[in-house]
Amino acid sequence: MPRTYGNFIDGEWTESRSGETFDVTSPASAGETVSSHPASSREDVEAAVDAAVAAQGEWESTPGPSRGAILTKAGSLLADRKDEATELLVREEGKTRSEAAGEVQRAIDIFHYYGAKARDLGGVTKSASGPDKDLYTKREPLGTVALITPWNYPIAIPVWKLAPALAAGNTVVLKPASEAPSVVSLVFECLEAAGLPAGVANVVTGSGSDVGGPLVSSDRVDGVSFTGSTEVGTMVAETAAEDLKRVQCEMGGKNPTVVMPSADIEEAAKTIGVGAFGTTGQSCTATSRAIVHEAVYDEFVAAITEYANSLVVGDGLDDPDMGPHVSESELSSTLEYIDIGRSEGTLECGGSRLSNDDYDDGYFVEPTVFSGVENDARIAQEEIFGPVLAVVEAESFDDALSLANDVDYGLSASIITQDLTEGKRFVNDVEAGVAKINEKTTGLELHVPFGGYKDSSTNTYREQGDAGLDFFSSVKTIYENY
Ligand code: NAP
Repeated sequence: MPRTYGNFIDGEWTESRSGETFDVTSPASAGETVSSHPASSREDVEAAVDAAVAAQGEWESTPGPSRGAILTKAGSLLADRKDEATELLVREEGKTRSEAAGEVQRAIDIFHYYGAKARDLGGVTKSASGPDKDLYTKREPLGTVALITPWNYPIAIPVWKLAPALAAGNTVVLKPASEAPSVVSLVFECLEAAGLPAGVANVVTGSGSDVGGPLVSSDRVDGVSFTGSTEVGTMVAETAAEDLKRVQCEMGGKNPTVVMPSADIEEAAKTIGVGAFGTTGQSCTATSRAIVHEAVYDEFVAAITEYANSLVVGDGLDDPDMGPHVSESELSSTLEYIDIGRSEGTLECGGSRLSNDDYDDGYFVEPTVFSGVENDARIAQEEIFGPVLAVVEAESFDDALSLANDVDYGLSASIITQDLTEGKRFVNDVEAGVAKINEKTTGLELHVPFGGYKDSSTNTYREQGDAGLDFFSSVKTIYENY
């Protein structure tokens, strides 16, 4: 049965002021409604900001260990509801069961990580230049922050913003993506049950223009942490800059993996295949370009084609290898890029929507590989956000590195090689926020900084680990002469 959710404002679950709602349908079975949510507007945003601003002083003066205890408890409550959250995520966003369970576990781990971090928020003591003087720093929260999140990791990304924001003593208004907002409500139910005081964290659902826009431009919001497309992120950064608001935008990617002759080609194809087709290619760090040395090019194309053809596509509830696209518009966009690809390269496999009776009008597309693609082709330059891999040929290591860098984005990049010198040169010289050797471009441990270069990020602050706290706090230097 579809469930009706509310906004969470000042500790209460409420309808939107207008009473209007929107429905979320299952990507695996178009027409099946999964949930209904408030279609909010500026008035709802104002109410949430009122509540967050009013709660700020008391939350900031709550000791770090007490704030951390609430986060840790919320993580444990989420762990108790892991199966429910996993199922909801599969039904709403379309991930496979294994992918969704991994994402929910990540959210649990992040709560526990920042629950512990709230005991140890940092600050340094420095030697003062005389007796009877103390010189040290401490973190202070920004105040009230807006968090705006995408649909492709609908629980992990909200939590990796929420947990450090709350640990550092901020109050929060979160606007989740409209394609998959229910798991965020479940997270807020856990925070409420863990004893989070009213007003400290608020969630408002609704469209980007009706909810996201007013949040970013509100003069009572002290910082904006956004993850989503480069197009929207650029607008968000420009609006926030108008009143010098602190802003962090993590955005799109066009991530390469370079394959050198020393690589085990079957292993390389598997690594790149998981990076390209995992989460249906709907990951900011998805491998969308394989840049392959000419000596192993044909062998690689054969191996990646065999890998892609072996994948089982289906409803995430059955835990296949690959689920559907999140929405009809995302499916259409991928199919358009596949059409463009037909004139930019050779279609090795895939290329079609899967639409027989087994697929129940869901948004399924075949894993698709194009070979013979020039690096300046649109399918090698633009973020497709679907299971489409462009294979580009390189003449040498230097050529491969230059092709890897010849793109507007700079989020994640990797090289597959047994030559340590090549690997080290690659991670040093590639223009990407995350650089890896013998690894897929997707996935990263939660305690290290994550973020992009170039058009992938505003590149001011990183997320995750200690870096996650840096965005949500200001450093005060204190000099005491007594
Ligand atoms: P999106 O369309 O940019 O939306 C992201 C969020 O912004 C959603 O909550 C959206 O609301 C909201 N929004 C839309 N218009 C807005 C506006 N005018 N003002 C304020 N907020 C607005 O991105 P998406 O399609 O959800 O996510 C896919 C993109 O995210 C891809 O480009 C992917 O690479 C990127 N991504 C990046 C990272 C990273 O860490 N670098 C991680 C994950 C995803 P609605 O949902 O209501 O439209």
